[in-house]
Amino acid sequence: MTAPDAALRVGLFGGTFDPVHQGHIDLALHVLARCRLDRLLFIPALLPPHKHRPTASFVHRTAMIEAALANCRETGGRIRCCRIEARLPAPSYTNNTVRALLREEDECRYSLIIGADSLLDLPHWHRIDELLHLVDLIVVKRETIEAAAIDRALAILGPAFVSDAEQQQWHGLNGRTAVYLDDIELPVSSSAIRAELAQGKEPALLPPPVLAYIKSHRLYGWKDFL
Ligand code: ATP
Repeated sequence: MTAPDAALRVGLFGGTFDPVHQGHIDLALHVLARCRLDRLLFIPALLPPHKHRPTASFVHRTAMIEAALANCRETGGRIRCCRIEARLPAPSYTNNTVRALLREEDECRYSLIIGADSLLDLPHWHRIDELLHLVDLIVVKRETIEAAAIDRALAILGPAFVSDAEQQQWHGLNGRTAVYLDDIELPVSSSAIRAELAQGKEPALLPPPVLAYIKSHRLYGWKDFL
């Protein structure tokens, strides 16, 4: 499938978001501006295929994303939470999700936003060759992954991405593109945040409404350590 040229450009940011943290929000704002997207969708996985079972339920994880976005004025309403994976079969394969989105809005040009750690995992994703015909890729730096690993990872993917190293851009033979953004680095992860919460700490990189939600629902082993 070829992407419509003058289409609405939509970024798809899938993940477990268990819980969503400031790194996810900053990354979304950065990608929206830098890649000139019209919209960006956070897409929480009902059941992620390659990860541990989420600690918090889909309903809680979605509510936390919505609370974080409501608190973030810079989005201008262009960043939203999309609950589509609740309606699709589990586990939540991105290929199924993108196909379902295209059935609803085939005029969009979709870009998949992933951290560099997820790029290295991509060859193991369900129907990855098919997926890479449906989306462009936006890869964001993650502290433990070296730049050379990005080039190697893209070279072995189905559409045979050819690099334009200076621009940090790659072109697939199928007309799709990949871009690597190394101008933002966010040393934070949901697992580190869960560990802090379980010790009764208040992680600095949690948006305040998300921390309030976690406390009021006593998620992630949170208790008042008074
Ligand atoms: P966990 O620590 O539980 O594995 P996580 O912080 O990696 O979680 P996910 O919800 O799995 O969060 O992430 C969703 C997407 O966001 C993934 O593509 C991941 O690579 C990316 N991502 C998450 N945190 C960052 C970060 N700090 N910098 C860049 N990318 C990130």
